[in-house]
Amino acid sequence: MAERRGIQYFTLSEIEPRIWFMLTGCNFRCRGCFRPARDGGGVLLTAEEALSLAEKACEKCYGFLPKKAMITGGEPTISRDFLLSLISGLRERGFEEIVLMTNGYAIGEDASGSYAHALKSAGLTEVHIDIKAFSDEIHRWYTGKSNKPVLSAVKMLYDEGIELLAQTIYIPGIVQADEIERIAAFLASIDENIKYRINPFAPTFAFERVSRAPTIEEMERAYEAAKKHLKNVIVSRSCFREFPTPPPQRTWLTVYPDLTVKRRSMKDQNEERLQWLRRPRSRVLADFERELAWDFKLRERILSAGNSAVATGEAKEGEGASGSDHTVKVKFSSALLPLTKKRELVLKLSDGVGASSAPADAAEGGAKARSSATLREVLRRLAEIYGEAFKKRVFDGSAVNEFVNISLNGRLIDDLDVEVRGGDEIIILSVISGG
Ligand code: SF4
Repeated sequence: MAERRGIQYFTLSEIEPRIWFMLTGCNFRCRGCFRPARDGGGVLLTAEEALSLAEKACEKCYGFLPKKAMITGGEPTISRDFLLSLISGLRERGFEEIVLMTNGYAIGEDASGSYAHALKSAGLTEVHIDIKAFSDEIHRWYTGKSNKPVLSAVKMLYDEGIELLAQTIYIPGIVQADEIERIAAFLASIDENIKYRINPFAPTFAFERVSRAPTIEEMERAYEAAKKHLKNVIVSRSCFREFPTPPPQRTWLTVYPDLTVKRRSMKDQNEERLQWLRRPRSRVLADFERELAWDFKLRERILSAGNSAVATGEAKEGEGASGSDHTVKVKFSSALLPLTKKRELVLKLSDGVGASSAPADAAEGGAKARSSATLREVLRRLAEIYGEAFKKRVFDGSAVNEFVNISLNGRLIDDLDVEVRGGDEIIILSVISGG
């Protein structure tokens, strides 16, 4: 009989067509876990039933099947037959990118490597694997299990030719820069090009508040430690795209197994976590406020806005001050400095950026007309200025790199055809440094 697995819901992105399968249950008991799906629940389905519902969900929301699927939880690997059938079923339906998010334990527990091999044969293309700690003692304390199978899984998956992204949560006093450096060295012993992401511990929704949020300096030290060994290190939060853009930003659609659809923001997800936690609501919300402030601070630091070269005048490309009716100011994050050599650039909208001079404000009693262009046109102009490196890191002429966020006057933007007008400010934020 076909194996069944609890499905909590499917998530469909409104930013880029792709579907997440949220499977319930987990073989770890991480103290800092913030996933209600860990504890089981959902509707028990076979892989075929889950695929059929996923097809209907995509049909309902997109009108077509996307090419990318993400399998997450909970821990997807604890039901091997279900997972393999799910992956091969996705392949049969034309999915080209199939990403598994896992703690890796069950894969590495199969010392023969046959689980990793079967995943590859079924059609898995990428794995995001958590390495909670390098020290087995810390790992056992934090998750309840040894990390040896996890480390073995990294090697097995790599040997199968599956693309890897390893991730660790920085937990002050528990998993710090020294531990992260050991993980990075381990990954580099396999391949220095393996992507590695360091996330900050977020105590607000953690099942156990084992620590505080790290300081920005601590995160930077961890980043530097990992960079000694690996070429592709990212510091981030896992859900970077939505926050802090307020609704009605396009975000995610949640489709439940009964096919009801809900547009769920981060706020809704946090509400779910609140219900799952057994801590007083008021205390969790106060912590959450602090966490948001921390998040803003990190972004500010990454951007390093404020100490810009523009103050000395060297960053200005076009004539005239920014904020005029015919110029836009473009700010770059620190990670892009090697490419742009300056923090800010003032672009004249009439100077090769778009072609228009829109009479946008003409109706306002003779107010001065403002030039305009689309964001896409501005990015194309930047690509002309900064050349191939910019195309590779930021915008290839048609799409924005997945690790880049662009904000226009403080709002995250994913529609490149949005209008940019004289006096606007664009921030280009890359969370990847180097590599
Ligand atoms: S953090 Fe992930 S691996 Fe750990 S208990 Fe939660 S769902 Fe399982």
